[in-house]
Formats: sequence, C-alpha cells, structure tokens
Amino acid sequence: MSSNKNIPYFRPEIADMEGYAPGEQPKLKNIIKLNTNENAYPPSPNVAKAYKALNLDLKRFYPDPLANNLRAAIAKVYGFKTENIIAGNGSDDILTMTIRCFSDKTLKIACIAPSYSLYQELAKIQNAKCIVVKLDKDFKVPSDLAKQISGANLFMIPRPNSPTGNSIPKTMLAKICKTFKGIVLIDEAYADFAEDNCLDFVKKFNNVIISRTMSKSYAMAGMRLGYAISNPEIIQGMMKVKDSYNVNRVTQALAIAAIKDQKYLKKTVSMIQKTREATSARLKEMNFKIIPSEANFILVSPPDKDGEKYFKFLRSKNIVTRYFPGSVIGSFVRISIGTDKEMDKLLKLTARFYGC
Ligand SMILES: *Cc1c(COP(=O)(O)O)cnc(C)c1O
Repeated sequence: MSSNKNIPYFRPEIADMEGYAPGEQPKLKNIIKLNTNENAYPPSPNVAKAYKALNLDLKRFYPDPLANNLRAAIAKVYGFKTENIIAGNGSDDILTMTIRCFSDKTLKIACIAPSYSLYQELAKIQNAKCIVVKLDKDFKVPSDLAKQISGANLFMIPRPNSPTGNSIPKTMLAKICKTFKGIVLIDEAYADFAEDNCLDFVKKFNNVIISRTMSKSYAMAGMRLGYAISNPEIIQGMMKVKDSYNVNRVTQALAIAAIKDQKYLKKTVSMIQKTREATSARLKEMNFKIIPSEANFILVSPPDKDGEKYFKFLRSKNIVTRYFPGSVIGSFVRISIGTDKEMDKLLKLTARFYGC
C-alpha cells in the first residue's frame, strides 16, 4: 500500500504510512467467515421490508445531510435528544470526525495497545502524535493509565476492547473521564454484547463521546452506519468537519428500520452470547487460554501457544479467523462468534487437531 516513490508530492506523513489493513474479505465459496466480527445472523426482517418499500425515484435527490429522522430514531431508543446524535458512514467515519476535531500536530491522541489499530492510522493522517499505553499480559489496562495518558487532548478506547474482548472496569473509566483534560471517545462497537455500557457518562461528563455502530450487533456491516452520542456542543462541532452527505439515503432508511426493532436485536444478541459462552467453555476444556469476552468474538490461545499454527490450520479447513502477529498477541487467534453449527464444526476440527 505504500505510496509510489516516483510521485514526490505526497505530504511526508502520508508517504511514510503503510495504510490500515482491513480484515480479509475472502471470495472463496463455502468458507466459514469468522475474521471481522460480522453478525452470525441476518438483519431484522424489518430491514428487508424497508428495503422493498424504498422509492427509487427519490435517489435522484441528495439525502438529508443531517440524517435527522435517523438521529431522532436513535435518540428515542437511548433516551436522548436528536441534538445528542451524529450519524456517520460507519463508526470509522465517527472516529475520523473525532480525530479531525480534537487532534493535530500539537494536540496528542492517547490509545491502548493491543486495540483497534485504525486509531493510530487516523492519527498519522492527521499528523498527530499518539501516546500508546501497553496492556498487561492478560490485556488489562495498567493501574497508572490516567497518568500515562495525561498530556493528550483525546483518549480513544474501545469498551469492550478489540481484539481482546475484555472491558476496562467502568468505575476506572469514569474516574478517567472526570480527571482527564481532554475528550474521551469510548468506542462501544461491541457494547450490545456486553453486560453494561457507558451511555450514562454522556449526562455525567461534558467531555465524553460514545461511538456506536450497526455493523456488529445490528448485522449491517455492508450498510455502513455508525453514530456518536455526546453533548450538543460536541455534536455541533463534529458536524462542521463531516462530509456533507456522509450517510446515503438507503442507509438512512434501513438504519431507522433496524434500530426500531430492539426486540430482534435483543434476541440475536442473546443467541450470540450463548454461543460465545458455550464455545469458550468447550475450548477451555481443551486447555485453551480464553480472554473473558464481552463481545461477539473471543481471543483464544491454543495449548501450545502457537496462534499462527492454529490460524493456518483453521484456514486450511476453510475457516477464516484473525491472527495478529506480535510477541504476546501472536500466541492468540481471534474468532468471531458464528452460528452454533459453524462453531460446532470449528470445535470438532480443533479437538481433532490437538488430540482432545
Ligand atoms: C468494527 C469496529 C469499528 C468499525 O465499525 P464500522 O461502523 O463498521 O466502521 C469501530 N471500532 C471497533 C473497535 C470495531 O471493532
């Protein structure tokens, strides 16, 4: 991905960067795709209905630049007002807006590692420095986190974290929001699969942005819809830096249908949680190390701690998972939670491979 050295006109920080490497989207038929945490189930049937009801003639016209109907629908679900919400072309768009608003050459970003690596790539594009706080060997945040991130203007943390699946304790994060002199973006891409979330922080602290996505729990990764919940002043500022028509007309309509069906969301989320717990328990029996997960994936280390070998074995059986090279993370593989049938197949192959 690195830029062509024959074109010397790129900004230096762009020429120097590799670019974010998204998870593989394999074209092979008959694969079990457990590598980018998409939902095991289809979106709500109401989304299909809304899709059929779309008026194609309206496509001539630009969409609502503010996505007001969608913002109102989101606000209603969570007990906020429209002015507390901004919609994005996926939550990656929300992250881009946040970094544009709150970081530059002198205003630093802070994040944890291992975590969602896009933050650091977006920081490079913005020419902002990033303070990277290392997690311990169990992927927990260090007790001096607040001290390590002080001096940054923006702290970005997923809760639950990816690729680890665990969460920083809520009380610890609340303390950070209270004392940190900057914006705290809590990336809740997986919060629907967790026991709790930090939406209440928006009312308690004036420096908190919660980022959500319909890609994971709402099974709409292909539609590209993310949103942020924050106080109106922050939302207004973010509106200034977003692309004018960042959420297309089809996505706006289908996202309204999806968010209104909370019953379907709860049903599918609870099925995935159940499969997650059963899969974790079975792998534990096979002497795998499992990081306790609150998301729709699990980070697991096989008995011989050779993550790459396990990843390659599964790949050879047409099961695609995610492997992250590295001294600690390299002994793990991240597995998205699929259907019970898909996980049964993975578990059977795994048991045979390790002779359990
Ligand atoms: C998947 C993911 C996102 C991106 O979601 P989109 O809405 O599809 O852009 C953001 N943050 C984390 C931690 C994720 O895992």
